[in-house]
Amino acid sequence: MKILLDNGHGAETPGKRSPVWPNGKQLLEWKFNREMVALIAAELQQLDIEHQVIVPETTDVSLAERANRANVYYSKGIKCILVSVHANAGGGTGWEVFHYPSSEVSKAYAQIFAQVASKALPEFKNRGVKSENFQILRQAKCPSVLTENLFMDTWKDCEFILSQEGKERIAKLHVTAIQQIIKNG
Ligand SMILES: [Zn+2]
Repeated sequence: MKILLDNGHGAETPGKRSPVWPNGKQLLEWKFNREMVALIAAELQQLDIEHQVIVPETTDVSLAERANRANVYYSKGIKCILVSVHANAGGGTGWEVFHYPSSEVSKAYAQIFAQVASKALPEFKNRGVKSENFQILRQAKCPSVLTENLFMDTWKDCEFILSQEGKERIAKLHVTAIQQIIKNG
């Protein structure tokens, strides 16, 4: 099983950032997503779990190209999961995970992620598993999930994901969910 890690957006993507908070801090989603994917990749490396960061660039790469890069492995017959890592926005709070509506395997994987997240982040609302017709989930041929790791435009959430402890705990929950998925076969 190969874990394909996707870090949403790029340095030039408009929007996709928190407000500048009164303390001067701001979260840029592309940067957060890359930091998260780097932390997850480092932990997978230590555990000898096969993985690939599909967007090593800091610039944005189209969703179609991201899906194409993931599909290279699928077309070689390599069993894989695509995990796309994001931070949420829109004024809410908490953690949630998406899967493509018609993919039962992706839904089962998303449920594992949500179960792990509810234990890993007890101080935040768990918004659970949602299905959505996102392009990356639709075009990726392997099972795929998209995690929304708290709300960058809500201070309580953003403060956590700006912190090293928050980043490490969110990386850990991804790794734990991936281990659980691999264990379940
Ligand atoms: Zn995003």
